[in-house]
Amino acid sequence: MALDIGTDIYSLLVISLIINRRGNMVTKVDHIGIAVKSLDEALKFYENVLGIKCVAEEVVEEQKVKTAFLPLGDTEIELLESTSDDGPIAKFIEKKGEGIQHIAYKVDDIEKALEELKSRGVRLIDEKPRKGAGGAKIAFLHPKSTFGVLIEICQRD
Ligand code: ZN
Repeated sequence: MALDIGTDIYSLLVISLIINRRGNMVTKVDHIGIAVKSLDEALKFYENVLGIKCVAEEVVEEQKVKTAFLPLGDTEIELLESTSDDGPIAKFIEKKGEGIQHIAYKVDDIEKALEELKSRGVRLIDEKPRKGAGGAKIAFLHPKSTFGVLIEICQRD
């Protein structure tokens, strides 16, 4: 029994050493995605009350969403308004109300990151990267594999 525990601790140590040697897969919080019913209404709060300025708005047809980007320090707030009743943001708001919809982590090489995540048994929503706002390559990981958080990984060139 004692040997088993020792072995497990040793295995964990080896695994953590391997992970540390590989470096971090994700390098920073790229942005926080927040689902809102109305960009115009939400922007009044973010810009006028919090004083965070919106630098760009963009419609991403593929995801049926209109986005607004508000850089904040080293990261960004991404406000998301659905452009259609059956879009993922509309469905999210219907189920959970307005609020944080996803957290996006920056990666240097999204293809490599997806491969590695898959090999570690993480359930992927996107097996291959797709095009996100601002020309980024993005992919989503399934919340069932990530303790309930919809995680986006994101590569910007
Ligand atoms: Zn995002």
